[in-house]
Amino acid sequence: MCSFTVPSGAATTTDTYSKLDKQDIWHPFTQMQEWVNDEPSPPLVIERGEGNYLIDTEGRRYLDGVSSLWCNVHGHCHPVIDAAVRAQLDKIAHTTILGLTHTAIVDAAAALLQVVPEPLTRAFFSENGASAVEVAIKTAFEYWQLHGQAQRSRFISLQEAYHGDTLGAVSVGGIRAFHEIFEPLLFPTAHAPTTLRRADGTVPSLPELLDGLEQALKQQEGHTAAVIIEPVMQGAAGMLAFPDGYVAGVRELCNKYGTLLICDEVATGFGRTATMFAIDHDGVIPDIMVVGKGMTGGYLPLSATLTTEEIYSAFLGRTTEGKHLYHGHTYSGNPLAAAACVASLELFQSERTLERMQPRVEKLATHLTRINKLSAVVDIRQRGYMIGIELDPDAGGQELPATTVCENTRQHGVILRPLGAVVVWMPPLSITDDEIDLLARATETEIAALS
Ligand SMILES: *Cc1c(COP(=O)(O)O)cnc(C)c1O
Repeated sequence: MCSFTVPSGAATTTDTYSKLDKQDIWHPFTQMQEWVNDEPSPPLVIERGEGNYLIDTEGRRYLDGVSSLWCNVHGHCHPVIDAAVRAQLDKIAHTTILGLTHTAIVDAAAALLQVVPEPLTRAFFSENGASAVEVAIKTAFEYWQLHGQAQRSRFISLQEAYHGDTLGAVSVGGIRAFHEIFEPLLFPTAHAPTTLRRADGTVPSLPELLDGLEQALKQQEGHTAAVIIEPVMQGAAGMLAFPDGYVAGVRELCNKYGTLLICDEVATGFGRTATMFAIDHDGVIPDIMVVGKGMTGGYLPLSATLTTEEIYSAFLGRTTEGKHLYHGHTYSGNPLAAAACVASLELFQSERTLERMQPRVEKLATHLTRINKLSAVVDIRQRGYMIGIELDPDAGGQELPATTVCENTRQHGVILRPLGAVVVWMPPLSITDDEIDLLARATETEIAALS
């Protein structure tokens, strides 16, 4: 059972691995019929990483333009994070934080609490963003139960929201294509408007957005446990940006209607929007904050649900009272992931990551101004290193123009992954000036080639 046989007739390492992959693996969010038929192109088999590049089995180098699904921060094989994980490996790879604790996770919690706003005092660890969102939902729900306001059991989320793929996270999601089929399994959630362009080409203004949310809060007044948002930019929706002041406006409305605010910073956290967290732009403090993706520098799965002392203390009592939070995962707070998290947060200081990215945010913006003039481009939205280039869905008579562009940039040595009609740029925070030029040239050439 344990022997590994290479399929016969395979000529190269690449052939071997792509053949075995097609035989054995069911890929996430992937139409496997097309995948196994090499549509639209044969699978790229990555073997190694180096800085901001991915290197395939043929030795070809590709700029990692989407940070290996939005999580890489300081580049691949960074010597400091590598050393931290190796040092932890010499101590222990895994032990639990259920009924025990360990040094690595205590260090990670301390480092994390230093970079989040002060009123967030408690970190609950999970392994991925969706699980940490589940924890946020359950925490908000149970908080009101314990607070003698059991009728506050409903949630308000935004249209086009994405909070992960587990069923609780899907219940507060708003992307029809991802979520519609599972509707009968979900708990009902009220939706407030987002900045998706309307049929008449306009985008809701700040007062309209906040008014829409207030309507939802009024409709279920006294029954809302929490409002959940992706602050500043909705990622998976196709990079939908909120106007300045939106997050602060949501906070005020939550205060006015006495409900909790959950900020899902899984995509926006750890420098992505050019501040440590997106909430830092408006100086907003949520009651519950969710982080994941970039938390370990993009090395290992780790996420956290952070809460205020006020929320945390509602769960205190004797075990027999049954007030504690009923949630946990086998690998919660894994030591190797915790060590990577500490090293990544230290790099933000030692490499002055946020400071050094500011001029590059401008450099990206300059390229985007030029790209915006291409006829196939409908709109561009940028917040720091979180960028969506929206294409005309009919550009070049293509079925999926953004997919075509992202396929073709590979020939220039750039890996991108689209969201619908949107070409996404989510480079590692460590991207250099030259690499930004490469990213922009490749994208511009391939968008121009559509028409
Ligand atoms: C990616 C993402 C999630 C889910 O994180 P996973 O680690 O993929 O489960 C949740 N919320 C937001 C905003 C995300 O972008």
